[in-house]
Amino acid sequence: MYLKQLTLKDYRNFEELATNFSKHVNIFIGQNAQGKTNLLEAIYFLALTRSHRTSSDKELIRFGQASASLAGHVVKSQVETDLKLLVNKKGKKAWINRIQQARLSRYIGQLNAILFSPEDLALVKGAPTIRRRFMDLEFGQINPEYLYFSSQYKQVLQQKNNYLKQLAKGKSQDKVFLEVLSDQLAGLAAEIIARRLKYLHDLSEFAAEAYQAISQGKEQLEVVYNPSVEIKATAVEEIYQQVLASFQKNQASEIRTGTTLSGPHRDDLQFLLNQQDAHFYASQGQQRTIALSLKLAEIQLIHKITGEYPVLLLDDVMSELDHTRQSALLNYIHGKTQTFITTTDLAGISWEIVKAPKIFILNKGV
Ligand code: ATP
Ligand code: MG
Repeated sequence: MYLKQLTLKDYRNFEELATNFSKHVNIFIGQNAQGKTNLLEAIYFLALTRSHRTSSDKELIRFGQASASLAGHVVKSQVETDLKLLVNKKGKKAWINRIQQARLSRYIGQLNAILFSPEDLALVKGAPTIRRRFMDLEFGQINPEYLYFSSQYKQVLQQKNNYLKQLAKGKSQDKVFLEVLSDQLAGLAAEIIARRLKYLHDLSEFAAEAYQAISQGKEQLEVVYNPSVEIKATAVEEIYQQVLASFQKNQASEIRTGTTLSGPHRDDLQFLLNQQDAHFYASQGQQRTIALSLKLAEIQLIHKITGEYPVLLLDDVMSELDHTRQSALLNYIHGKTQTFITTTDLAGISWEIVKAPKIFILNKGV
């Protein structure tokens, strides 16, 4: 798939923008603070209805304006789809081919995008929340059910935690209601965990392959799923039983702490390089290659599940990769994905590798 056209109105520092893209490589060049990242963010937002750098949509509205709008034409096996998003202070609305969508989970997935920026190093070095967010965003864009179950899970988790707090304070004694909530939560947890297991299995294989291609080394990368509940099965029903058992086992401590101590909201991922935990042992360069390999693995996973390659957004990444790694990266994706690259300096790009790109010069949002 590729994004043929993008129109922005009052989005960040863009008052108005209407542009066509190459289906191969597009380069956004400009000095600092001209809107390069804003433009990549706009494409990412059009795909996922979420920004990669803020959870507050209001920030996306141009200073002093009431709303921001984004629209694009996506081409997928010759078929063109019109996407539109409107963000205002009350929230956001989405249209596919001019038909408003009642749920964002119906909209997400029309355009798939993978974004890679230097901050993605945090996937390896940062806190578990970052890795869970990665799973939720990436698996959500390939599976609408995953999105649906994780939003339901968040709601029921909140309800259960609120009720645990009431029990903790002695405001209620009724454990039956707690068990109803735990049962509901275990059902949703099982749907999420089953999908994480399935997708991470493929992702680990693709990431190992990408790591080898980029580093041309002999190290073996492994992505390991560490669920907070010990899972010994892959079927949803059995996982549900195991999660429920864990809730029951922890009941007393959950009431004491007023919080749910296990479940998908406590899961984590681990990256092993030659069986050593990369979080502690890998060098900066190795960690960067792991983060990039993960994103490249996502491209393959999306292709495997949807039959289409997503668009690839590379924010300030080229200058961080040496010639060999740039070349390995671009060869790896060569011709498969529409790619958007931002840079402040054309000298950072290996031109013999990036062939015939369409170049956009950005100057204060125009
Ligand atoms: P760098 O090379 O430093 O990464 P960049 O070209 O990627 O720069 P962006 O992050 O895309 O820069 O754009 C930053 C600019 O956008 C800043 O000048 C900022 O003030 C402006 N900006 C951000 N949000 C808004 C907004 N809501 N309304 C207007 N301008 C905004
Ligand atoms: Mg930037």
